[in-house]
Amino acid sequence: MNALAGRFPARTVRVKAPGKVNVSLDVGPLRPDGYHSVASVYLAVSLYEEVAATSTQTPGITVSISPESTLDLDGVDIPLDENNLAYRAAAMMADVSEHATGVHLEITKRVPVAGGMGGGSADAAATLLACDALWNSGLSRDELAHIAADLGADVPFSLLGGTAVGLGLGDELSPALVKAQTDWVLVAADYGLATPEVFRTLDRLRDAEGHEAAEPTAVDPRILQALRGGDAVALSKVLVNDLQRASIELAPKLRHTLGRGEALGALAGLVSGSGPTVALLTRSPAAADSLAEDLRHYGLTAFPVHGPVHGARIISDTLL
Ligand code: ATP
Repeated sequence: MNALAGRFPARTVRVKAPGKVNVSLDVGPLRPDGYHSVASVYLAVSLYEEVAATSTQTPGITVSISPESTLDLDGVDIPLDENNLAYRAAAMMADVSEHATGVHLEITKRVPVAGGMGGGSADAAATLLACDALWNSGLSRDELAHIAADLGADVPFSLLGGTAVGLGLGDELSPALVKAQTDWVLVAADYGLATPEVFRTLDRLRDAEGHEAAEPTAVDPRILQALRGGDAVALSKVLVNDLQRASIELAPKLRHTLGRGEALGALAGLVSGSGPTVALLTRSPAAADSLAEDLRHYGLTAFPVHGPVHGARIISDTLL
């Protein structure tokens, strides 16, 4: 049956939410609760997911992936049931909304799946905002952020956008005022890495070295300073990602991608979050465009982006 059957009168709220790059990511030791504390600088970048939430007469939540998605999703595993983060976001909103109806969520995927850029988290953030509008739930941004944190550590940041320092599990966010833009090239891989496995690999590497990681409590102030000044050269010297070596251990090809990016003129490169997307820092928008083009000549999937950009935003609200 068509997911939208029996939908009248229906309304569609469309929201876009950005993916992120962790400009720095310090990871603490494995905690007794199985998680790791982090200290990270998040940057929202101009690669957006979109969620169109349409009210349906039939109760329940359905999810589909839009044919407009720019990713090659052949063989990519995106659950369409309650394991989808957008589904779970809608279910949590329904629990707190007096006027919840059935809803169909159509997701336009642009952020690489299982790429370390928080694509699923962006879908969840977009869904929270869309359902809030669709059902006139009237939640404040703070209330939405609370629900977001229950969905996953990266969801609150996609809601917030911009630049932020994340502590704790990454969900204790302090926005940083950054007006200057930095320009990046993202190189997507044709495979994904499971975030928990990357963390486990880091623990294993550290154990083997007898390395006792410290609890991270703050980020390197030089990172925020360089971002504020839009000083890509200074920033290139302080990029850090503790997970990078674990990602490379699991996917050694990443070393070549980083090396190729730097050989073709990137100021520096790092694996984004748990990877395998690689973020290459460049001097200017023009440098990012030409680096992306050069990388495409080598058969890589590369796109220029900039950051910071806004968090989740409603882009249309239509009565059907
Ligand atoms: P993070 O960096 O937050 O760990 P990620 O960007 O590496 O996330 P996602 O694209 O968010 O990874 O998805 C990771 C896994 O979550 C996927 O392999 C998929 O099985 C599942 N998943 C759940 N909901 C979604 C969604 N809306 N879009 C994509 N994958 C989803």
